[in-house]
Amino acid sequence: MKNVPYKLYLPEDKLPDAWYNLRADMPEQPGPMLHPGTGEALPAEALKGMFVGTLAEQELDETNRYISIPGGVMDYYKTFRPSPLCRAYHLEKALDTPAKIYYKFEGNNTSGSHKLNSAVAQVYYAKEQGLSALTTETGAGQWGTALSMACAYFGLDLYVYMVKVSSQQKPYRMSVMRTYGAEVIPSPSGTTEIGKKILDENPETGGSLGCAISEALERAAKTENCRYVLGSVLNYVLLHQSMIGLEARAAMEILGEYPDIVIGCAGGGSNLGGLIGPYMRDKLTGKANPRIVAVEPMSCPSLTRGRYAYDFADTGMTTPLIPMYTLGSGYIPHPNHAGGLRFHGMSPILSKLYNQGHMEARSVGQRPVFEAAQLFCKYESILPAPESSHAIRAAIDEALLCRESGEAKTILFGLSGTGYFDMTAYSSYLDNSMSDYRPSDEDLEKSFATLPQI
Ligand SMILES: *Cc1c(COP(=O)(O)O)cnc(C)c1O
Repeated sequence: MKNVPYKLYLPEDKLPDAWYNLRADMPEQPGPMLHPGTGEALPAEALKGMFVGTLAEQELDETNRYISIPGGVMDYYKTFRPSPLCRAYHLEKALDTPAKIYYKFEGNNTSGSHKLNSAVAQVYYAKEQGLSALTTETGAGQWGTALSMACAYFGLDLYVYMVKVSSQQKPYRMSVMRTYGAEVIPSPSGTTEIGKKILDENPETGGSLGCAISEALERAAKTENCRYVLGSVLNYVLLHQSMIGLEARAAMEILGEYPDIVIGCAGGGSNLGGLIGPYMRDKLTGKANPRIVAVEPMSCPSLTRGRYAYDFADTGMTTPLIPMYTLGSGYIPHPNHAGGLRFHGMSPILSKLYNQGHMEARSVGQRPVFEAAQLFCKYESILPAPESSHAIRAAIDEALLCRESGEAKTILFGLSGTGYFDMTAYSSYLDNSMSDYRPSDEDLEKSFATLPQI
């Protein structure tokens, strides 16, 4: 009856063998990272001391449009890629919309998210450089899990600092990481000076992402042959995630389809940046003009209500300064916020594109997000991550507009992952204890006041 299959996996001979570097096509580059003390651009050598060497090079690369994927990375990709491009026939029918809704599903691996795409690459290069251990932080746990999987495969030690409340709420997330061989340390902990100091001052604290980052950085600095690695925001993470968009575009081409609207959720910007890469290229080179939409939580609205400024990436104000839309590094979403996407800033690449008017952004309340999640799982069978459900919300809203206007638009959204470990959040939605929280202008002003003066 239908000539488009429900799911399309790219054939192996059509899999992309190079990542796409969006910066090669950007009319204006995002600014460089700055040293917070001097305000000067960080030289390549400084970045190489902080990051894995090849990743530092990729971070700075503004000219190479395609960067070939090493064979060792491709080999691991084959265990979970390609990811399927799906047509949401049942959801379309339920919404009674003439719109065609496609989604690219990245949750088909044990991390339950797209984060494995970059974790594999980062650990591969770390091993190639002869490093023997890595540290990182994790909040919700997807990044820590992805990195645990990659470290297990390539044989590196991994120390994951997991926000203490999160480790208590999601003990099985810890078990998954430990099964892959990672050491998971609830943060703050007694394993670092900064952790001890925080515990002395406040023994009952549940921790924060900013504190976990500070501990992971300290542990890396004090461990031989070790680096700290990050799962979002940075340019090289978006580079690795371009796999999502390259596969999506190739699969849609096989179907003879092209999206009018491309939608993704945005926390640090990596899944969205990866999905839109090739479509943004079409836009910037005048080949096509799809609308590109970032969706963020109303309680953490960095693009829609933030400032475009240089800011720290961590609450402890220890990282280099990066140019981005930010709510201020001290910004912490309201405790009632359950749906992820809590980072106060945004990828410098996406920030620049948004600032120049190449993409749109909107924020959505968390109740409508979980309502969309429930509708989606009912018709499409997948239990979506709360983060991904922000994109589902926007896709449904666009499809409903099509119902009103009668236009048969083609919508593509990124389904970045699954929500099996997020049942506390789902429960609070189902129990009606979840509310929508919109920070006041005054709240935001207070937070902007902490922006570094440079
Ligand atoms: C981490 C995560 C996000 C948000 O991070 P981005 O870097 O903005 O992509 C979104 N969805 C899922 C499933 C995640 O795990």
